[in-house]
Amino acid sequence: MIIIQNYINGKFQSTDKNIEDINPATGEIIASIPKSNSNEVQMAVDAADKARNTWSDLSLEERTQWLDKIADSLESRSEQIASLESLDTGKPVSLAKAVDASRSVANFRFFADFARGYSPEKFEMDDATNHVILKPVGIAGLITPWNLPLYLLSWKIAPAIVMGNTVVAKPSELTPLTANLLAEVIHDVGLPKGVVNIVHGLGSEVGQSIVEHPKINLISFTGGTMTGRKVAETAAPMFKKLSLELGGKNATIVLDDINLDEAIPGIARSGFLNQGQVCLCGSRIFVSDKIWDQFVPKFVAYVKNMKVGDPASPDSDLGALVSFAHRDKVESYIHLAQREGGEILCGGKAPKLESPFDNGAFLEPTVVTGLSHLSRTATEEIFGPVVTLHPFKSDENAIEMANCTDYGLAGSVWSGSTDRGTKVAEKIETGMVWVNTWLHRDLRVPFGGIKDSGIGREGGRWSLGFFSEAINICVKES
Ligand code: NAD
Repeated sequence: MIIIQNYINGKFQSTDKNIEDINPATGEIIASIPKSNSNEVQMAVDAADKARNTWSDLSLEERTQWLDKIADSLESRSEQIASLESLDTGKPVSLAKAVDASRSVANFRFFADFARGYSPEKFEMDDATNHVILKPVGIAGLITPWNLPLYLLSWKIAPAIVMGNTVVAKPSELTPLTANLLAEVIHDVGLPKGVVNIVHGLGSEVGQSIVEHPKINLISFTGGTMTGRKVAETAAPMFKKLSLELGGKNATIVLDDINLDEAIPGIARSGFLNQGQVCLCGSRIFVSDKIWDQFVPKFVAYVKNMKVGDPASPDSDLGALVSFAHRDKVESYIHLAQREGGEILCGGKAPKLESPFDNGAFLEPTVVTGLSHLSRTATEEIFGPVVTLHPFKSDENAIEMANCTDYGLAGSVWSGSTDRGTKVAEKIETGMVWVNTWLHRDLRVPFGGIKDSGIGREGGRWSLGFFSEAINICVKES
């Protein structure tokens, strides 16, 4: 069993109370993590406050070199990141290696390179020059979810520290292992103490204490929309800088001119990657009625072929869901779908697996049809391996159906014509839309949602802007 400690002021520290961390693929207890409270948050804030001036006095170039060191050390531990992430979340090791481990390294490398390439803006007037300088905001409070644990934590820590802020971070209590690995890496490379502090515990205690702490000037939160609302209620009246990356119910639009054999693997990947637990997953699939009869059997056959099982096996397409409670929630939506008149075309139940996975939180990839696009199943975020299929009559009709939810995170359009696909994409009310692909990420582009999917953008210059205060110095010619 792994004993995890907080990482505060360059030291690993335990607490009196602990929380058990469970491997959802087997039900085994794998680790214990501190059940911290506002006292530990206060210690972390004190450490971050003390480290602030020295850290922000370093040049941007010096700070980028620290990011390079962290990236190198993380890269040397890629295999370990993948196996810990799989153990903690239940996701396949192959996926954790290809996505979680590699993106975590890439996040540090990317923000180091991107910040090095940053040149301050200047605006000339007839008689004066305006210099725009980016100053650190202060102490950044970073709160992350369980679905992509290190991927999302590193996505926030890297730009926060490169811009000269110090950090108090809280990973999800369900998936603390790789945040602890990052703390070890930060310790090993010798990052000045207090620059990054990691406090483990529950959202209602540690998360809430971070959000309400008066010395924390900025909150970057990724998680559910309900929690995001609570975070905003606390942080907004304190005028903190706030970025909220929240839930989604993303549409996948399949136009009639598509080559089905080419498109279906991508459409299925977008529905079921990480057991459907990616905020960007396309869980509402709108299909032109002209190709509906060909699409449905081909898609269902493809999904039936996806293998659910041992996360360590390279043959597994899907592993376990993150927890038993979460699987219960996803199953409750499958029951709701049936009550709402939906027909389960495949999946809908736990697969039969050999020990030690026979009691794990697994669920077969599930395809539902026959529901209104306005039904609860088709409009509420399920965040699991469940997709609903809906026919549409025209491109306009597809756009209208796609835009009918309160969410506005992402979407994808699949078409034989990139022009037609792009025209439809432009009408989708979300922060991101892919055409003939999905989760194809360039870290320079804005990432974030509209409507109930959040506020603010991160990525590239948007992250540098969010994690800094833009200050204008206007110098009049003498
Ligand atoms: P969650 O909202 O339950 O928890 C997210 C984090 O917030 C956790 O660390 C949790 O401990 C903490 N938290 C809980 N209550 C808090 C409070 N009162 N104050 C401060 N922090 C608190 O979300 P989750 O179940 O961990 O993650 C799943 C959700 O995250 C889904 O809705 C998914 O769509 C969303 N998500 C969004 C993105 C995105 O980029 N938009 C990315 C990944 C996940």
